[in-house]
Amino acid sequence: MGVKSAPANPAATNIQRSVLVFGGSFDPVHQGHVALVQHFAKLLKVDEVRLIPAGQPWQKGGLKATAEQRIKMLELAFDEQLSVPYSIDQQEIERAAAQIPSYTVDTLTNMRSQWGNAQLNEEIALILLIGADQFHNFATWKNWQQIFKLAHIVVAARPGYSLQIDTLPSEFAALWQQANGAIEDLKQCSFGKTWLETDLAWDISATRIRDELQQQGQTRETTSLIPRKVLDYLQSQGIYN
Ligand code: ATP
Repeated sequence: MGVKSAPANPAATNIQRSVLVFGGSFDPVHQGHVALVQHFAKLLKVDEVRLIPAGQPWQKGGLKATAEQRIKMLELAFDEQLSVPYSIDQQEIERAAAQIPSYTVDTLTNMRSQWGNAQLNEEIALILLIGADQFHNFATWKNWQQIFKLAHIVVAARPGYSLQIDTLPSEFAALWQQANGAIEDLKQCSFGKTWLETDLAWDISATRIRDELQQQGQTRETTSLIPRKVLDYLQSQGIYN
């Protein structure tokens, strides 16, 4: 497999708006999700946040919480937690409900097409936020190379996942290295730059929370990892009992 060069990015365009895009299963939403978005929204001085709950898999063995419950948890968790506007984009849930496979590349493409004309798109920086676990899988995502032409990519360190570039597939590692630069670069153009945030170490995962809730019920440790309003909602719905 040949190494492709990084896609051309309109040099030093006039960025008018930057949008942080954060997708996940959110089964359940936990404090790590909220802290991550707060951290990057501030660090990158974004104008807007879009939360993208993943579609409910229609195959057997999917998520525990329904799409409606995950949307509700996002609303409860993020209410009044950000200093910039946020919205919950349901396109992946809608595609899954129609039994259409859902991929990040399609989500980003849709976002860009919703904004319409090319000039406007050059003025909007899209910043895709993922955790280190997803960084490891990135080269398995559908049309992952295309994502470099649609958005910047920022990665949050996560306990248990290395950020060593040389352990990643070579084509991905090469593209990543070419795109990696200073954090200010993300404000200079609308897509195609990358940034690793190495200093984070929030040891929180939805899988662990689900397992502990199921096995031990609500312990003090587990409940401290879930936003208060989400916790009340989980109790009222009995989702992970
Ligand atoms: P699960 O354990 O079910 O995989 P999760 O805790 O990773 O869930 P998701 O909803 O799948 O939660 O995560 C959404 C995004 O947030 C992903 O990009 C994931 O890598 C990132 N993320 C979640 N928790 C953390 C964390 N503690 N540190 C860094 N990134 C995280």
